Amino acid sequence: MTDPSKQTWFTEIFGDEGTSFGLEITEKLHEEQTQYQFLEVYDTKTFGKLMVLDGCVMLTSRDNFLYHEMMSHPALFTHPNPKKVAIIGGGDCGTLREVLKHPGVERCTQIDIDEKVTWASQQWFPELCDANDDPRAELLFDDGIAWVKNCAPGSMDVIIIDSTDPVGPAEGLFAVDFYKDCLKALKPEGLLVQQSESPLLHSDSIIKKIHLDMADAGFQQCHTLPFPQPVYPTGWWSCTMASPHGSVTHFRESDAAAKAFETQYYNLEIHRGALAMPEFMKRALSK
Ligand code: SAM
Repeated sequence: MTDPSKQTWFTEIFGDEGTSFGLEITEKLHEEQTQYQFLEVYDTKTFGKLMVLDGCVMLTSRDNFLYHEMMSHPALFTHPNPKKVAIIGGGDCGTLREVLKHPGVERCTQIDIDEKVTWASQQWFPELCDANDDPRAELLFDDGIAWVKNCAPGSMDVIIIDSTDPVGPAEGLFAVDFYKDCLKALKPEGLLVQQSESPLLHSDSIIKKIHLDMADAGFQQCHTLPFPQPVYPTGWWSCTMASPHGSVTHFRESDAAAKAFETQYYNLEIHRGALAMPEFMKRALSK
């Protein structure tokens, strides 16, 4: 056992929840104050590299596949034929890499407000940036709220909101007006996906508000899919999928079963399981 006096830990404290999460770190690799946030990268003893923004864990090498696969594949196998995809945020490029595994996708535009996140990912998480040179990838550095507002109406098949928590520059990404602009930018059979925080902590607050706001914006169907994410508060996270008209709970099961690319978490059974909603969430969301 390591002598505790020689250990150095990165600890994220969730003050409101009275909990914290820690990783033993072996080295600080990078820190910088960008125009938008304080960015840190560490090497850890057991989780590989760790990226932190404003003191909040964004990702580690070891478990980011859970989040990135669940932010992309359920939506892309629910949409009948996704060709044009936008990622709002997502500057580490992990979601972009997953989206571009789908051969039918013709263009994936990633719009992150902070280019420094992408530069740090290219340097410290090159495995997440595998698809950055794919001719179908477009990397823009801009405010996602403004980009969606100016997007050609009815031009997008899937919009994925891969944002930080709803504070600072990401606050407006959790708002009715933004969802209305997303709805306008989507084709009639389009899909919206948003990272929607922790089922355990946020079902009757942030997740419920997302459902109400998406409905207010005009989305007819909305469903939250929980999945594990050990390095986020409570170790359990979610994405919420919304559709203007169609179903978000039926998906192309035979295509998911026959997917022609590798994943570490996502498969047909995981997708089916993620659509099952725990009783406490059903209650929170129906109130
Ligand atoms: N998976 C992560 C999580 O839930 O903690 C999010 C990862 S990704 C690094 C989040 C990105 O959202 C950041 O790079 C941040 O710069 C970006 N972001 C925040 N507000 C934004 C906005 N208004 N427009 C575009 N990108 C934004």
